[in-house]
Amino acid sequence: MLDALSEKFEKILKKLRGSGVLTEQNIAEAMKEVRLALLEADVNFKIVKDFVERVGKKAVGQEVMQSLTPGHQVVKVVWDELRAMMGGEKAGLALSSAPPTVVMMVGLQGAGKTTTCGKLARFFKQQGRRVLLVAADPRRPAAGDQLASLGRDLQIDVHRQDQAGASQTDVVRICQDGVRRGTDQGFDVVVLDTGGRLHVDDELMGELVAVKAAVKPHEVLLVADAMTGQDAVNMATQFHERVGVTGIILTKVEGDARGGAVLSIRAVTGQPIKFLGVGEKLDALELFHPDRMASRILG
Ligand code: GDP
Repeated sequence: MLDALSEKFEKILKKLRGSGVLTEQNIAEAMKEVRLALLEADVNFKIVKDFVERVGKKAVGQEVMQSLTPGHQVVKVVWDELRAMMGGEKAGLALSSAPPTVVMMVGLQGAGKTTTCGKLARFFKQQGRRVLLVAADPRRPAAGDQLASLGRDLQIDVHRQDQAGASQTDVVRICQDGVRRGTDQGFDVVVLDTGGRLHVDDELMGELVAVKAAVKPHEVLLVADAMTGQDAVNMATQFHERVGVTGIILTKVEGDARGGAVLSIRAVTGQPIKFLGVGEKLDALELFHPDRMASRILG
């Protein structure tokens, strides 16, 4: 996970840690290397620029330069700023005091949305909550089959009303039915697996906006493939502008050596990463901790 980036940072910071005396010159050189490492990691260039400016300014500040271990202090500054860039504090989930909590999952096809619905359902089940999964892509029986199969594996109920050629109104009704069933049957959490497309298109966005308006979910979680780097960030920006999301789940992070999406999606969209998908299996879901990720990157 983020190995290529981590390796580069390790080298840069080793030099800094090793220097007993720091000058503005060697900080400037280190910042140049940091800038390059982040750009190579596919981090949004504006985020990189801001990051390097902030770190550079703090690093030449009195507190750092006059300390006994200036190299270590600079590393601490880098850690603080990385953590801040990824959101600072761990972002929790908004659970409703009047169950069920409704979680609407959105994202493009292939990002890992349905798998992540299963992972999230398992996560809630492990906390002792009753979960209902809702297949909200009635036009694609394969999507419903996949969710039904996950439900069987996890022993979690799946609400499904497939309908070829379903209109937007039908999709909204199916979601409302699912949430109503969640309420009537005393479920704690209802997870909606909405439809995906290969690209962000008006029809999909219109449908998601209509579903969101009808069921008023407590969370709208965008599932994005971390391996796609800045494409994931751009896609997330579009989803957030058009639908409004409350958080992001990045998938396939275990295979992502560069880290561009993990590092910059929060700063670009303003929305927190809540979980990471780190494998195909249903237990491969981690809560996202910006501080732990910063430590992992800095080695
Ligand atoms: P959807 O079209 O967005 O619903 O995507 P799927 O849930 O069908 O997942 C697409 C592919 O990505 C499947 O092969 C999943 O096993 C895989 N996948 C999902 N999440 C992860 C992850 O965190 N890591 C890895 N390696 N694969 C994942």
